[in-house]
Amino acid sequence: AVHTETHGFQAEVKQLLQLMIHSLYSNKEIFLRELVSNAADASDKLRFKALSDDTLYENDGDLKVRLSFDKDAKTITISDNGIGMTRDQVIEHLGTIAKSGTKEFFNQLSGDQARDSQLIGQFGVGFYSAFIVADKVTVNTRAAGVSHEQGVQWQSAGEGDYTVADITKADRGTEIILHLREGEDDLLNEWQLRQIVSKYSDHISIPVEMWKAEEPESEGPDGEKIPAKPGYWESVNKATALWTRSKGEISDEEYKEFYKHISHDFEDPLKWSHNRVEGEQEYTSLLYIPARAPFDMWNREKQHGLKLYVQRVFIMDDADQFMPTYLRFVKGVLDSNDLPLNVSREILQDTKVTTKLRNACSKRVLSMLEKLAKDEEKYQPFWNEFGQVLKEGPAEDFANKDKVAKLLRFASTYNDEAVQNVSFDAYIERMKEGQEKIYYITADSFNAAKNSAHLEIFRKKGIEVFLMYDRIDEWLLSHLNEFAGKQLVSVTKGDLDLGDLEDAEAKEQKEKQETEFASFLERAKTALGDKVAEVRLTHRLTDTPSCIVAGAHDMSTQMIKLMQSVGQ
Ligand code: ADP
Ligand code: MG
Repeated sequence: AVHTETHGFQAEVKQLLQLMIHSLYSNKEIFLRELVSNAADASDKLRFKALSDDTLYENDGDLKVRLSFDKDAKTITISDNGIGMTRDQVIEHLGTIAKSGTKEFFNQLSGDQARDSQLIGQFGVGFYSAFIVADKVTVNTRAAGVSHEQGVQWQSAGEGDYTVADITKADRGTEIILHLREGEDDLLNEWQLRQIVSKYSDHISIPVEMWKAEEPESEGPDGEKIPAKPGYWESVNKATALWTRSKGEISDEEYKEFYKHISHDFEDPLKWSHNRVEGEQEYTSLLYIPARAPFDMWNREKQHGLKLYVQRVFIMDDADQFMPTYLRFVKGVLDSNDLPLNVSREILQDTKVTTKLRNACSKRVLSMLEKLAKDEEKYQPFWNEFGQVLKEGPAEDFANKDKVAKLLRFASTYNDEAVQNVSFDAYIERMKEGQEKIYYITADSFNAAKNSAHLEIFRKKGIEVFLMYDRIDEWLLSHLNEFAGKQLVSVTKGDLDLGDLEDAEAKEQKEKQETEFASFLERAKTALGDKVAEVRLTHRLTDTPSCIVAGAHDMSTQMIKLMQSVGQ
């Protein structure tokens, strides 16, 4: 190898490697999942690029992954004939972490192994997981379409640095050689490797092959001669893209593995929905709801969206045109028969097909959530992770406003706890005789909401009030004025009309007080001048002498704060 350079890993890589080796050891076999997954991705990328230039196949369009091992050298090798990498790509992809959310991830690490291993899983382990079982990794790669001499060799012991050198590599693609650590010999076993690979790769769309040793000539039970069989590469997986198979023959285990492959998540998904649609539109979708929010859900630059295929051919990752922003946590695959193979992000922006597919996918997700919501115990963890994102729904998706509203959960005075678990439907069921409206209060925090003086009259009358304290709530409420024909009303706004909830006696007393306090109100108004719009006698307070309210048509105090915080 010539032109050998030594590079230091990015500091985060070093830290990640250390953590991975220590906290993921009990799950060490996942390295195979990650490496096979990368090989499959590399084949998808080659197929896509070859759509516009089929010389990239170099007369070898038979894409596959091969797994082999060498007992004496104590190595395991995974090779593919996918897209390969150039020298620059090797340095970029195998020396740094380019992922969004990296900073948040490192900030959350605690030093506690069990907790950290879970965090790493969420973050995504990828290529570096090779170092869980190997104390040296060699990567030989050559990009599709370049000369044999432009091969690259990357080597590292997974500590501070790695080397890159130029090599000649006749076969296109990437070969990864793992030099196993002391004590990992149990992996050098055909049965064991087959076991692991078939578990992790049945859903992969290209064959994953292992060498089947030749069988010498032998004798059958009746003394007949069975001829020798030469060795051959045997596929150990089903090698059909999972979503193209029929639902009935796919196990939950396979669905879960496929999810991990496409999402780079480590944990099982919460729920999925697999649908094939024929007729006017033809497509297959397989959509997943993750169990946990990623570190960077609030990062605006974060990529999200579905993996897009057209007629089984991979087109792009993170196609965000098919999922509204408030459902950005959804992962999955969309395989369309109606889009052209040469579709680009620009073309996707404005085709009718895209709009139809987005509507269909949104509906699927919402109905999946509707089903999930029937089981409170399962829905609550989902809400805790993604509720704040879902609250963006009514503003963004007018057509599905009511469906989204049904899925919303808030804290309320019913159980007075900082847990968002009350739906509009549950509220309505508990409404008082004569109550026509849905009441809420917004504040900066749960405690501020819960202890607000505005609630006194409601508590006294036993009327439930939603306690809203997420930043997004004001925004949500400005797009959601009613639910099931019942107006949503802030208890802090204007002249609170409790309608039939007020009894006749109270009304009479109210009128009496109005006259008694008329001159006091006049004086207060003069004293406060134009600092206030109006000074009014209130009946809504029971213990507190006075409070400030916004006019019925004014922005609420929360909204004013929100606008100020964005510089309005
Ligand atoms: P991820 O798969 O989430 O992108 P990985 O750590 O698994 O992260 O891989 C990092 C990158 O290295 C990949 O995105 C890809 O660009 C490159 N890579 C890894 N394995 C291969 C391979 N077999 N062929 C081509 N590129 C690869
Ligand atoms: Mg990967």
